[in-house]
Amino acid sequence: MTGSVTTLRDKYETIIVGAGIIGSSTAYYLTELGHRDLLIVEREVPCSGSTGRCIGGVRQQFSDELNIRIAMDSVRNMNHVQNDLAVDIQFLQTGYLLLAYTEREMEIFEKNIQLQRSMGLKVDLLTPSMLSNLFPSINTESVLGATFCPTDGQANPFLLVHFYLSRAMESGARLLKGQEVTSIESTAGRITGVRIGERDFIKCDNLINCAGPWARDVAAMAGISIPALPERHESLVTEKIAPLFKPMIVDYTREHGCYFQQKENGAVIGCFTPPEVVPGMNYGVSLDFLQEMSRRMIRLVPELATVSVVRQWSGHYTMTPDAKPIIGPESGLKGFCNVAAFCGHGLMQGPRVGELVAEHIVRGEFSLDLSPMSSSRFENGILTSEELLK
Ligand SMILES: Cc1cc2nc3c(=O)[nH]c(=O)nc-3n(C[C@H](O)[C@H](O)[C@H](O)COP(=O)(O)OP(=O)(O)OC[C@H]3O[C@@H](n4cnc5c(N)ncnc54)[C@H](O)[C@@H]3O)c2cc1C
Repeated sequence: MTGSVTTLRDKYETIIVGAGIIGSSTAYYLTELGHRDLLIVEREVPCSGSTGRCIGGVRQQFSDELNIRIAMDSVRNMNHVQNDLAVDIQFLQTGYLLLAYTEREMEIFEKNIQLQRSMGLKVDLLTPSMLSNLFPSINTESVLGATFCPTDGQANPFLLVHFYLSRAMESGARLLKGQEVTSIESTAGRITGVRIGERDFIKCDNLINCAGPWARDVAAMAGISIPALPERHESLVTEKIAPLFKPMIVDYTREHGCYFQQKENGAVIGCFTPPEVVPGMNYGVSLDFLQEMSRRMIRLVPELATVSVVRQWSGHYTMTPDAKPIIGPESGLKGFCNVAAFCGHGLMQGPRVGELVAEHIVRGEFSLDLSPMSSSRFENGILTSEELLK
């Protein structure tokens, strides 16, 4: 997966900025639709942004209809890669288990389940005793109930991005690594091209901003302001152990909330939403997180008490005021499209979002109404958020 500036043409029909899950999925689906005059520019290497730092969870249990639809379609697309194309992306439908500790959480779960089931998603509502029978390693103390979706699960972001990019490149797309888009040029309200590094100007008709935590900076190069702000999230992974539990366990409470999952290789990976926002591009890690996350995991799965953590790291959720992504063309600048700010959902939504964006570039319209995710919602003031997990 290489590329050098010197061998580039002076024009590509479409340029994608960023080779994380969103840019790579978009590139793959564009080439699948026959749109091959495509350059992907990545400042570092694929997966060097948020994608390579995520914990690989794939969840369809949302409270918002559009989020559910996109996640269900993403699961369909990952299933296609894993099972129909027989490419191993470690997509495993090991489920997500959401725990409720309060009556309010139970009410929200029951409401969500109705919507999810009406859309064809299989989700079970579990009592504490059902929970203990199904997942004996989980501590059910104070748990009022849980929802379990067996078709949720996990995927390996590195394998998925590798699949998307290598297929796109086999079909003719170019990937330029280690090079940065430093400015964007336009004339008469239309994108004309980008500057790469300090010198080369490459013309294009379409520019797709898939720059993750840096999407706001890339949009600003085009004179567009988007409210997409990175926030640090820390994670850890344990040594490999014998199979202990399968689903991603999700606890929403402020005091002991966390989410963690056992991977196919036996390691347990997880994180929690920090109680205080750590804004900006900060890759620091903290002893507080290590101790607190360990305590929370052991509280939920006591057998983890003897297991060692082998690594911790941090990455970024790119947040918007309503914790939904920004997807779509910008009315004031023809040819410019933002596909950014996926909060904690980029891996689980990217495989469908890339397909939708590719359809938009090739056919001129989305096959799903994505207007609730357009940037104009911030001007209109029409903001609705997920009720529990962002
Ligand atoms: C700790 C943690 C856990 C998470 N867990 C999950 C999870 O379980 N499931 C899930 O769905 N999501 C999860 N997420 C969220 C998920 O990681 C992100 O939503 C997703 O990776 C965003 O992908 P992206 O392609 O938009 O951005 P990125 O992966 O950040 O890709 C953007 C790329 O753009 C490049 N770039 C930026 N500016 C330029 C430029 N000017 N020129 C060229 N290249 C540029 C960067 O180098 C980068 O590689 C998690 C995130 C974190 C931090």
